[in-house]
Amino acid sequence: MPTVAKAYVATSATELRPGLIERREPGEFEVRISIKFTGICHSDIHTARGDWAGVKYPVVVGHEIAGVVEAVGAKVTRHAIGDRVGVGCFVDSCRECVNCLAGEEQYCLSGSLSTYNSTGRDGLPTAGGYSTSIVVDENYVLRIPEGISLEAAAPLLCAGITMYSPLRTWGAGPGKRVAIIGLGGLGHMGVKIASALGADVSVLSQSLKKQEDAFRLGANGYYATSDPGVVDVLSGHFDLVINTVSADIDVDRYLSLLAVDGALIMVGLPSEPVTLRVWSLAGSRRTLAGSKLGGIAQTQEMLEFCAARGLGADVEVISADKINDAFDRVIASDVRYRFVVDASTF
Ligand code: NAP
Ligand code: ZN
Ligand code: ZN
Repeated sequence: MPTVAKAYVATSATELRPGLIERREPGEFEVRISIKFTGICHSDIHTARGDWAGVKYPVVVGHEIAGVVEAVGAKVTRHAIGDRVGVGCFVDSCRECVNCLAGEEQYCLSGSLSTYNSTGRDGLPTAGGYSTSIVVDENYVLRIPEGISLEAAAPLLCAGITMYSPLRTWGAGPGKRVAIIGLGGLGHMGVKIASALGADVSVLSQSLKKQEDAFRLGANGYYATSDPGVVDVLSGHFDLVINTVSADIDVDRYLSLLAVDGALIMVGLPSEPVTLRVWSLAGSRRTLAGSKLGGIAQTQEMLEFCAARGLGADVEVISADKINDAFDRVIASDVRYRFVVDASTF
């Protein structure tokens, strides 16, 4: 039998309001999760507020989901009722293409199925974590290890893996100088994880306001990007720079901070194209790359990595009626460092 879930629904680019949605009965290989906490990712805001093309209202956003399994299909083997689990940004993929077979389902050649604002195999729109329950194929559900609270774990399902994956791909570790641009939801997890990997971590933030926090999170360098002198001080300094800013940035300026063979990785997703001078790359054999999320196996690895080191997100738990205010605060860079909604208030 389908069940009814409470949800917060974006009915237009200007409003989220309480509503009810139907969740299908779990199929043979599916689990139904009672959602306990959902993180507010900036991508939820881009989607709900119509910054990106292709938003279909009404939409239920939310892809940093932590909860407990409350029902399982007949053939489920990976999860049991009562397990602490999480769901991230996608809930299915083709499972056959070269990328799915390599465990990089986020780059599925047929397109991984987004947790929200997509169309599922049943032809219905997918609805995300701003709700009290969700039904997901067991292969796309993560185990949340003991030793990390569900509210601190929720943001790991997007922010955590989005930073862990490029940090691993580009070899962050001892002897590597890493910089994170933007100390928000993604950025603060980037600092924690890069520091736990043993890298020398700096934060490039708009102002000096978050300096103390950055050092507490594990950074040992901090620079205000509003200071034009930053480029002179840090020219050629970093092996890896990860940009989490969703607004347009001066790509040439940040490329100039890279050493020879250094890489600037774009994970922030501005809606407008970026421009750069090729000389900023060629002049020191630098790389400009992008990265999206991480595969299911790597997400599980990241959860174990974080739990073993006590690394959860720094969260401010809010009730659902504060979501609209929280969106405004995230846009104003006024979040320390992830809002997480208590799902019992939907
Ligand atoms: P967030 O919490 O808002 O953090 C972004 C940070 O960027 C802010 O805290 C702020 O840090 C800085 N910033 C904001 N506006 C700026 C501006 N105009 N100029 C310079 N710096 C600015 O957002 P988030 O949830 O971390 O997400 C960041 C971006 O990543 C979004 O575009 C989101 O859609 C995208 N995203 C991408 C992926 C992926 O797989 N690639 C996954 C998740 C999210 P300071 O105050 O320190 O400057
Ligand atoms: Zn996200
Ligand atoms: Zn695939």
